[in-house]
Amino acid sequence: MGFSNKAEGAYWGIDVGGSYAKVGCITNECFRIVKTFPTGENCHPEDLLRKISEFILAEDTKPAAVGLGTAGLIDRPAGGVIRFSPNLPLWNSANAGNILRNLLKAPVVVDNDCNAFAVGAINSGLIPSEGLWLFITLGTGIGGTIINRGEIIYGTGYSGEFGHTTVREGGIPCPCGSDGCWERYAGKNALKWYYTRLTGQKISPRDMVLLASSGDIPAREAFREYGRWVGIGLANLANCFSPTGFFIGGGLSAALSLFESSALQQYKRRCKHHWNVSLLKDSPVAGAYGAALMARKQC
Ligand SMILES: [Zn+2]
Repeated sequence: MGFSNKAEGAYWGIDVGGSYAKVGCITNECFRIVKTFPTGENCHPEDLLRKISEFILAEDTKPAAVGLGTAGLIDRPAGGVIRFSPNLPLWNSANAGNILRNLLKAPVVVDNDCNAFAVGAINSGLIPSEGLWLFITLGTGIGGTIINRGEIIYGTGYSGEFGHTTVREGGIPCPCGSDGCWERYAGKNALKWYYTRLTGQKISPRDMVLLASSGDIPAREAFREYGRWVGIGLANLANCFSPTGFFIGGGLSAALSLFESSALQQYKRRCKHHWNVSLLKDSPVAGAYGAALMARKQC
């Protein structure tokens, strides 16, 4: 591929996930993913970002700016230092922003991957640009983004860590150092545990969905228990934010019909806000697209 206007360069977006990194760019107001790289828990930030930079510079000798979205606590005022990275342990404390700046000689912005996804989703019309919306990802952990009138509310920088709000003091220990965190009860491992507790068997969430959909009683009960905890957390958030509504995404959101009624039951018991919970349509490009848009806006 090539660029007609190399002097100005393009806005690039990088979405680093637990399994893959996606790299794309905005050209002529269109965004597309042009390359993916494998990641994984042994992925080293310098190695991956060097490979990505070599690829970008081979395509675009002078990128206009680059956005990077990755999981964890991102110190944005420090230029993109990763303070805590649960899924990519070697990225803890990495100054991802400076690594990319040095390699690419271009402005770089780094943000949480959930926030980058939200920006991509807002600009794709998947999240309304009016109202106060909470975007929640239900997966191994629980990610969150607060969106007011199309803008992310950061607080002092680390807002949206809903997964680490305490729902049971003295509860299940969390890798974050706390215990009883919401994601220990409404994350993927919790869902698996609810099934194992009933049957003594360990199966994947995907198999649980198949079983529950075909009427299997323990699988349905496990989803009901999971939903209870989802509802408790959403009620806490509704009481704090009085949002227009919630959008949920992440791997477990697709099974919403299996846990929505038990979530709603808890929600109604614990807060009096309207239940406005929608599935956010999955978009395989939104994370990298949002990162590229952040680069264009902030750099
Ligand atoms: Zn935690």
